[in-house]
Amino acid sequence: MKRKKWILMLILCTMLVLGTVTTSIAATRPAPAQPMAQECGNCGQMRLLNQYDYGGWVFVHTTLCKKEPGGLDHIYERPVFMSVKCSNCGFTADLGKTWEYKTVCNH
Ligand SMILES: [Zn+2]
Ligand SMILES: [Zn+2]
Repeated sequence: MKRKKWILMLILCTMLVLGTVTTSIAATRPAPAQPMAQECGNCGQMRLLNQYDYGGWVFVHTTLCKKEPGGLDHIYERPVFMSVKCSNCGFTADLGKTWEYKTVCNH
């Protein structure tokens, strides 16, 4: 009976140690790309979320295809308007604009 308890303790300890290791591995991983709620400057609630509005794709120029020698791929860009919006009071603030690029390969 005494020995059984000791084994149980050992198993518990091992699980605890393993649990700590797993937690530390998870902590070193990069944060998931999920919207993080921030504090609203208007109402003070943690309801401020990032918003992205996309413009239409516009053809920019061609580039040499990586798959087909001598082939040309098309590069498009579109504006991305970044802003934050409070889901509580509706307060919005512009964060500026960035550009997104894509390469279209038809080969
Ligand atoms: Zn608010
Ligand atoms: Zn191509």
